[in-house]
Formats: sequence, C-alpha cells, structure tokens
Amino acid sequence: MAEVEKRQDRSPVPSAFEYATAPESRDIVRLEDRYGLFVGGEWVEPRSEEFAPSVAPRDEEPLAEVAYAGAEDVDLAVGAARDAFANGWSDLAPSERAKYLFRVARILQERSREFAVLESLDGGKPIRESRDVDLPLSAAHFFYYAGWADKLEYAFPNRRPRPIGVAGQIIPWNFPLLMLSWKIAPALAAGNTVVLKPAESTPLTALLFADVLRQAELPAGVVNIVTGDGRAGAELVSHSGVDKIAFTGSTEVGKEIMRAVAGSGKKLTLELGGKAANVIFDDAPLDQAVEGIINGIYFNQGHVCCAGSRLFVQESVYEEVLAKLKRRMGTLRVGDPLDKNTDVGAINSREQLDRIKELVASGKEEGAEVYQPPCRLPEKGWWFPPTVFTNVAQSYRIAQEEIFGPVLSVLTFRTPDEAVEKANNTPYGLSAGVWTEKGSRILSMAQRLKAGVIWANTYNRFDPTSPFGGYKESGFGREGGLHGLAPYLTFDE
Ligand code: NAP
Ligand code: MG
Repeated sequence: MAEVEKRQDRSPVPSAFEYATAPESRDIVRLEDRYGLFVGGEWVEPRSEEFAPSVAPRDEEPLAEVAYAGAEDVDLAVGAARDAFANGWSDLAPSERAKYLFRVARILQERSREFAVLESLDGGKPIRESRDVDLPLSAAHFFYYAGWADKLEYAFPNRRPRPIGVAGQIIPWNFPLLMLSWKIAPALAAGNTVVLKPAESTPLTALLFADVLRQAELPAGVVNIVTGDGRAGAELVSHSGVDKIAFTGSTEVGKEIMRAVAGSGKKLTLELGGKAANVIFDDAPLDQAVEGIINGIYFNQGHVCCAGSRLFVQESVYEEVLAKLKRRMGTLRVGDPLDKNTDVGAINSREQLDRIKELVASGKEEGAEVYQPPCRLPEKGWWFPPTVFTNVAQSYRIAQEEIFGPVLSVLTFRTPDEAVEKANNTPYGLSAGVWTEKGSRILSMAQRLKAGVIWANTYNRFDPTSPFGGYKESGFGREGGLHGLAPYLTFDE
C-alpha cells in the first residue's frame, strides 16, 4: 500500500485570525456645539456664564461645550422643580405618571443605538457594553418603575405612601445614563420632581436625555438637568428647597454630603465605593470562574463600584486558576471604544488614569508581582492595560483601596473561615462573589460575607427588580426593586 504522502507545499492553517476593525458609526449622534442647562423644560444660558468641553477619552477630542452651573443656576433649577411638584405633578393621577415613564422607556429603546454611541464616545466604555448593558438596563428601569407608579398602595399596604417633594440627585461618570435611570425612574414613579447633576466628564447622555423628555412630553420642570462640577453638586446638597438627596460617587464626597445634610431634615441615600472579594473555591467550575473573574474586574475598565477587585483563590487550585486567568487576559482586546470587538475601552479621564498609575506603582513598591498581557495601546487618549497583581498582602494599598481601574489583586486562602475573614477585612461592604459547586456553601458564605450584594457562580449581574447597595463605607439605602422606591416616599408610621 502506498504511503500517504505528507504535503509540504501548503502553508499551515493559522491558529488564530486577527479581527478586522468594526467601528460603530458615530454619524447617528448629532451634538450641539454648546449646551446650556435644562431647567423648567427649556434650555437656559447659565447665569454663571461658565462653560467647558466634555472630551472623548479615546483621543481627547472635545465633543461639546457644556455649562457649569453656579449657585444661582442651581437655585433656578430647584425653583422649577418645586413649581412643577406643587402645580400638577404630585397630584397627577398615578396612572398618568406611569404613562410618561413608559414613554421614556420606549423612546430609550428606540434611540438606544444613538445613546450607546454617545455613551461610549463621552465616557470611553466599549460599545459592546453600552449597547448590551447600559442601554437595555436603563430602559428596563423605566419600564419597571412605570409599573409601580399606580400601585404604590399595594407595594406599601396601609402606610399611605406619598411623594417627598424635590429630589436632588448626583451621579458619577462610570455609568452615566444608567445611574441617571436608577435615580430618575423611581423618583418620578413616586411622584417627586428632580434636579439631576451629572458628572463633569460624562454629561452628554444626560443632555441627550433631555430630548427624550421633550419627546415624551413630560411636563416642564419635572426633571431639570444642571451640568457642572462638584460645586454644583455641593450647591444642590445644601439648597433648602431640596427634600431628598440621592448620591452615587466616592466615599470621600459621600461623607462630606452626610455632614452637609446633618440636621437639615433632608432624606439621604448614599451609594459609595467598594473593594469586593471574588472568592473561588476548589470545587468551582474553573473555566466559568475565570470568565467571572474577567467580567468582575475588566468590565467597564474596572470603573465599577462593585468590581471584583480582590480575588481570593483556594490554595489547591491557585496555580491552575492563575494560568487560566493569564491565558484569558491575553485574549482581551484593548482599544477603540466604538469598535464592536473591543473588550476594554479607554480610561474615563486623565485624573483617573493618574490615580490608577499611582496605585499600581504602590503595589510594585510594596512587593507585589505584576502581570500584564502584551498589548498595544493606542497613542492618543487615556489607556491602561489589564493588570493582575500576585504576592499581595492584605495590608498593601492595592488590597485595601479602591483602584477603580482594570487592576486585580490576587490573594489565597485555605479554609472557608479564612476566606470569610480575609474577604471581610475591608472598610467597604458593597458586593462579593462566590464560586463553588455546593449550594450549602453558597448560602453559608452569603450569610457571613458583609456585603450588600452577593453573586454566586456569576458576577456583575443587574436587574431592576433586585435591590443594590452597600453598608459600612459603601453607603446606605438601596436602589432597584421596592427597596429603591421607598426612599422616595414618605409614609404614615
Ligand atoms: P465623586 O468624585 O464622588 O463624584 C460623584 C459626583 O459627585 C460627581 O457628579 C461629582 O461632580 C459630584 N461631586 C463632587 N464633589 C461634590 C461635593 N462636594 N458635593 C456634591 N457633589 C459633589 O466620584 P467619582 O470619582 O465621580 O466616581 C467614582 C466613585 O463613585 C468611586 O468611588 C465608586 O466606587 C463610586 N461609585 C459607586 C457606585 C455605587 O452604586 N455604590 C456606583 C458608581 C460609582 P464632578 O462631576 O465634578 O466629579
Ligand atoms: Mg467626557
């Protein structure tokens, strides 16, 4: 029998194909050169006369000039919200309120591509995430709370739920439209009016949202949007016409706000930072766990308050998990946020990039070992490669402080008790993850971990029906679900 000849003339089959670029077109977004403030249903020039550009983190391109509200501007916005509350909105039939919220939800769905592109342009997050996470969840929050608007009596039986008045809402830059939705949807469903202060580096989707309100024909003054920096936030917090403050941001500013509202009678909820433990037991499905680790820390460049930034791996599977993790990190694509293949986008601002670099330098100095997969970062813009630290002691700054970037610290444990003790060794208490095959272990860990949200065999899952929030230095109060509605109501006690 003739031997089968091996053919030498063919080039070997490539083991991996490079992706062609697949950028989402930005033509769908039409920006004004300059935006005023959205007050009483109209665009008004800021009395402060201050403007500054919002820039794209991917290449530092200025996208539009945005107003910086001063004390007088905040005062006008609060006045418009008070007017709208007193003259119609608070005693509108609840089913009518629901109608507006349903409209907003539907318009967000219809315009989701436009919003997703703008969110990725202004904030730097991958379009895959803004398209598949931020936008669907934002619409879902409006749909969900629209459903409660005319059922408050059933939600809180025998407690006579009533709106509070004007809600002052201050949000951060990591999920601009989603945080807006988490705040505005329950506030309106409960019958309040709103003054919202978006973050300085990501105001554009909030300004585009004003157009959604116009399309939905929401009565003037029910939602007012005042852009600007921390000064506008502080003015809103201290304004005597505001009845409730809802804040999402850093623990540092949260503490300041708490001091500012003390004794004022204002209601307050704070959603602050985190340093979550993601705990991998040796019986966990390791390939899935590695996906959970990646999602936990590299989703949204790690600009996530509930990011699984401290990884605890049981010693017996440490080597295996690390090898799998490093291999998987090598497949992450860092680059243009508007490219549909991008996994890790741009860092939101130069300040945030500096903060990440400073903490990473401290990790190296304190003795941790750093690993970054080879990757080519774009020349313009703000970037940081996916990073993992091993040999980390619990006392290191990278194990204690929130980095808010794509940087993971890996620690190990031997027993469940040790895992709990180490996981709880943090001033924060927002979220945690547990990976194990055993249901009983999941339940016992969930009971013992001091965190507001605990995911089992998954990570970074959100749903409008499910309350989210922390304790200790992660703040208090819940958003989502009925828990998220109660802080916007007052009751007969
Ligand atoms: P930040 O500095 O606290 O800012 C949050 C918002 O507060 C921004 O709109 C900011 O304005 C405004 N602000 C600043 N100083 C203020 C003051 N004195 N009074 C009132 N408002 C003021 O936080 P960030 O750096 O934007 O966001 C990152 C932090 O937010 C992280 O620590 C993260 O963990 C946390 N976060 C928590 C959650 C949660 O749900 N728990 C969610 C997302 C983010 P500027 O526009 O000028 O910054
Ligand atoms: Mg920006």
